[in-house]
Amino acid sequence: MLATEILNNLAKFPHCILLTRVGQFYESYFDQAIEVARLLNIKLTSRVWDKQNIAMCGFPLMHLDKYLKVLVEQNKRFVAMCEEFPRYSAHGQKPEFDRRVVRVITPGTLIDEPFINQYENNYLLSISADGPTEDMDGTFSVGLAWIDVSTGEFFAKTSSREALKDDLARICPREVVLDVKLQDEFLHPIRQLLVDEGYFVSYATPSQETPVKDSLVTTVTPDDPIKPEEDLASTPSAYSPEETSAIKILTTFLHANLLEHMPRLSMPSREGNVERMQIDSHTIKALEIKESTREGGTTGSLLSVVKRTATRSGTRLLARWLCKPSTSVKEIQARQSLVAFFHARPHLLSDVRQFLEEVEDTTRIVQRFLLGRGDPGDLVSISRTINVWSTIRRCLDLERKMESSERGFLLSEEWSSVDVLMCRMADLQALETRINLALQDMETVDQSKAKDEEGNDNSPPADEEESSKIGCKFDIPSRCFIRPEFSSHLTSLHNTLVDLLEQRWKMERQLQADYVDAPSLTLRSSPAQGMHVHIGRSKRDQTAVKISPLFIGISESGSTSSYFYQPWSSLGNQLVETASAITNAEKEAFNLLRNEVSAFATDLRRNARIMDELDVTLGFASLAAEMQFTRPVITDDTTYEVTNGRHPTVELGLLTSGRVFTPNSVALESDSRLHIITGPNMAGKSTFLRQVALIAILAQTGSFVPADHAVIGVVDRLFSRVGAKDDLFRDRSTFMVEMLETAEILRRATPRSLVIMDEVGRGTTVKDGLAIAFAVVHYLVTQNQCRALFATHFHELADMLGYSDSHCGSGIFQEVGFFCTDVHETDDNHFAYSHRLRPGVNRDSHGLKVAQLAGMPESAVLLAKRALDALKGRDHTGSQQLSALGQSLTSSR
Ligand code: ADP
Repeated sequence: MLATEILNNLAKFPHCILLTRVGQFYESYFDQAIEVARLLNIKLTSRVWDKQNIAMCGFPLMHLDKYLKVLVEQNKRFVAMCEEFPRYSAHGQKPEFDRRVVRVITPGTLIDEPFINQYENNYLLSISADGPTEDMDGTFSVGLAWIDVSTGEFFAKTSSREALKDDLARICPREVVLDVKLQDEFLHPIRQLLVDEGYFVSYATPSQETPVKDSLVTTVTPDDPIKPEEDLASTPSAYSPEETSAIKILTTFLHANLLEHMPRLSMPSREGNVERMQIDSHTIKALEIKESTREGGTTGSLLSVVKRTATRSGTRLLARWLCKPSTSVKEIQARQSLVAFFHARPHLLSDVRQFLEEVEDTTRIVQRFLLGRGDPGDLVSISRTINVWSTIRRCLDLERKMESSERGFLLSEEWSSVDVLMCRMADLQALETRINLALQDMETVDQSKAKDEEGNDNSPPADEEESSKIGCKFDIPSRCFIRPEFSSHLTSLHNTLVDLLEQRWKMERQLQADYVDAPSLTLRSSPAQGMHVHIGRSKRDQTAVKISPLFIGISESGSTSSYFYQPWSSLGNQLVETASAITNAEKEAFNLLRNEVSAFATDLRRNARIMDELDVTLGFASLAAEMQFTRPVITDDTTYEVTNGRHPTVELGLLTSGRVFTPNSVALESDSRLHIITGPNMAGKSTFLRQVALIAILAQTGSFVPADHAVIGVVDRLFSRVGAKDDLFRDRSTFMVEMLETAEILRRATPRSLVIMDEVGRGTTVKDGLAIAFAVVHYLVTQNQCRALFATHFHELADMLGYSDSHCGSGIFQEVGFFCTDVHETDDNHFAYSHRLRPGVNRDSHGLKVAQLAGMPESAVLLAKRALDALKGRDHTGSQQLSALGQSLTSSR
């Protein structure tokens, strides 16, 4: 029977690893067992079915999470979970089991697995490439829909094939779903892009029947509908055909995999490009916004350096904001006002922060409830969190009162930013009260939650058999988690239970008294013996019992014996029935409460979202205080002016090794829009370039910035061409990568964009490089007309641009400024970098000094010096001259 079920499931889910629950184990059979045993490093055994020896392996239930992590997260396998459900026969025999696959776990459809990264979103993204609808740029539109199943956050957007790479870098999906039509189209540009970028791709056949709006619930929106982070224009009709088809692919995939755990889906928030800074994929990586390229993981990234959030969901919001800063002056200023408010009130900041630390990850808990999961501990978390929210409100109200009485007036302008945020909080006290009234005191439930952390299931019993294990045992009523007063039904059951327990107590006392020589007599129950009378010291105590016809002996050991006693048997059975009725009633009550919480999903999510904003804001305020950040002035023009700016990550790195960062100033204005930065290696050019970009990101996220003063005209798109590496996997040399990125920038930068370019043209010959660098600068100035920093080794570029050392000013183009970094020679023939930018061009690259510093053999350095001196004297270096020079240098060794 089991074998047939397994073979059926293997045929139904051929793309999955099938894990079948058998009692307290998950097992794998046939050929799959060999693979599972290898992947999980567990023992492979065999069993005989139908006279055939077949391979099998298995592991205990409690190891499921650990092994799912290996299969799904590390090996990117789909795992079909086949659970068992007892089927009781009428005669109380041992139950038989129905088994069915209740869910397929894939990397992008994690719900509450403990290995989910709590600080990041776990997005599943679908891309529809129905095209070809050419948009205005002549590119093809694609639809995107992405959801975090663990939080319910759901978005849709229309993008273009060209911008897709940037969207992918920002969304960072764990899994991408495409229409099954593309499965064999290996050369399709979207498939190629996904392969190139290393995304995990799955396929779905979108159902053609259900219109999108019928499969989604309009009442629950995943994001705050009042002041959304994203632009919400989400009525179903507002979705473009591309979005609709992406949503279809996504929902089909979810249905096919979440199966019995499919949540009610909300309408996706429609995300436009209008109010967000676009940061291309390469820049997100190169500026190490979320992840550090050197150290891997988040350490050393901008996120890790500016993160002061107290909650996991706050950290997720911060990561989203950093990858998608605002371009709305109004919105940025509103965020800044909040930061300034808490920055000016450090005591309040620390109080609210402390409260926030107690807030639970409500968005994920609500989603668990919507998915029909969750446990009593989650209810407690919801009620506690609502309580903390109220405390935060009270704390702010108190502060307002104190301020107004101390000062005699209130700075209403300052408080208005707090009001704008907090007035959107829904009052959920009724829900908190309802949960508190329903649940036994927190301690009791906490104990069961603690158990959960040890790996035991403590969710409400899923079936009758389990009720005896974890529900309300008749002799331990304290394990109940719902208060008897919750419903009249529960009250009456509890009254019956108390009454029956009383009867049991009386019966026991009576028997002990009637059979005076048997004080060790107790009434017990056990799985083996059922309801029985137990005598502890049978040698001494059982004489009277033994001769009584009311007692029928069941067993006897050296010192104890047990008897069947009809009145206790019937009383005991009533107790068991009542206890299991209580368990069932509790299960019903829990479901009721779960539905009640689900009904408040929108409000809970909105409040959680507001708290996330508060958390990020408090974090920015702490950061500003700690690292001496200042509030930038945000304008609608194309100014970029920073006095004594610092690179947040490099500064922190230097500080930890006891060194000091040298601040630098920059002013990109309409008459000096593009700066050429020359200077030796290691003197801080790329640090400066990155710092300029990071300050723009931080400023538009709403944070204060590492500078003495800053005026930032809103940047619509941020591009960088820094730190290219060979991409041999994709058969691209460093130079090719460099040119691809440069080409993209020149095609896409607008007059409101900010571009940083480091050493463009380095990867080819000097002449080629110089020619390309000149053309790029020319294009940026005349066509893109954007703000840009262009760092280069080629001081000849400055000459080509008409720079003259004598007047230190602009050359051919008014808009180009010239700045450089320096090296100072010290008396002992050593040198030091100044890291301080000055106007002008540095014509000495000091390459040999760096070579010396790097430990190149002395003779090699000496030869290089002589070669350089000789080369410097020549204007044109033809091949014959060079050959002669080479010979003279080697012969004079
Ligand atoms: P370049 O691009 O000119 O080769 P980098 O920007 O890579 O130089 O800087 C090299 C190193 O110099 C950095 O790793 C950092 O430790 C240090 N550095 C850069 N800028 C500064 C600065 N402004 N103040 C102090 N140290 C700096």
